[in-house]
Amino acid sequence: MRKGFFVVVAVLSALALVGTVLLGTPPAVAKMRYVTIGTGGVTGVYYPLGGAISKIVNKKKSVHKVRVSVESTGGSVFNVNAVMAGDLEFGIVQSDRQYQAWYGLKEWKDVGPQKDLRAICSFHPESVTLVAAVEAGIKTFYDLKGKRVNIGNPGSGQRGNSIDVLTAAGIDWQKDIVPEGLKAAEAPKMLQDGRIDAFFYTVGHPSGAIKEATSGRRKVRFIPIPDDVVKKLTDKFPYYAPAIIPIKFYPMAENKEDVPTFGVKATFVTSIKVPEDIVYIITKEIFENLEALKKMHPALGILEKRAMLQGLTAPIHPGAMKYYREVGLDKYLKK
Ligand code: GLU
Repeated sequence: MRKGFFVVVAVLSALALVGTVLLGTPPAVAKMRYVTIGTGGVTGVYYPLGGAISKIVNKKKSVHKVRVSVESTGGSVFNVNAVMAGDLEFGIVQSDRQYQAWYGLKEWKDVGPQKDLRAICSFHPESVTLVAAVEAGIKTFYDLKGKRVNIGNPGSGQRGNSIDVLTAAGIDWQKDIVPEGLKAAEAPKMLQDGRIDAFFYTVGHPSGAIKEATSGRRKVRFIPIPDDVVKKLTDKFPYYAPAIIPIKFYPMAENKEDVPTFGVKATFVTSIKVPEDIVYIITKEIFENLEALKKMHPALGILEKRAMLQGLTAPIHPGAMKYYREVGLDKYLKK
């Protein structure tokens, strides 16, 4: 086996040498380039969205020589940091997290503005979703007091949203609740097993995690975020907007109507260090195959080109900008 391998290597090297001697420099064969998209938990929407993007781009990998792979991660904050560190080339990130990273706020307060961060586009809306066990006696937001509540793992987008909404409602997340820092993919089972009373997840709908949480033996309900709390949040933070949880996706939940809350958007980011042509190729493939992308996950059905240029804070990456200018989409970008 080993010997055979060496023989093959030796023969190939000899052929390459002969080729080089006879033909001069070997013809330039473009090498495949590999890039990775950081997503979220496997039962969220980021992970299937990343998978859908990679499927679309990889279809033409022999033409453009870019191969996209997807990684399940802890979420938005992790993704920004991994893209900034050069560990990942792309990340799906909540719009509020993009804003905070760009301006050096919240998790980035000590490290400062992430000046290499670049935006590509945005995707589906995500709403802050609070799921509680009926038997835990949580009917209103204020009933969370004294309960065991998963606010999200450090690295997730939702952790900041949970802290913001609890704070806006006058609930001290470190004292008035028993906070847990679980990943979103683990929370539904923990809720079903009675090990937590409620959890927050900022996610598009429908999502596998929320389906899992609502379809178990333990009855659950979505807890609306009170209007005045939503108003406080949207007045204070530019990236929050009122939103709803469409109840039609979760027929097993106790609620019968859409649930009022607030939300953000999922956005697609990269680093200024990622080559222009790679970003151009991926942007172009996303936009030119949007109808196919929309069919790949029910939460993506509402995607629309114009709206996909909104919710971005960091400057647009030159590779994405090149595509937007080519097709005249640049006029929809916030000046
Ligand atoms: N919004 C979540 C986060 O940034 C991820 C949601 C998802 O994976 O769909 O952490």
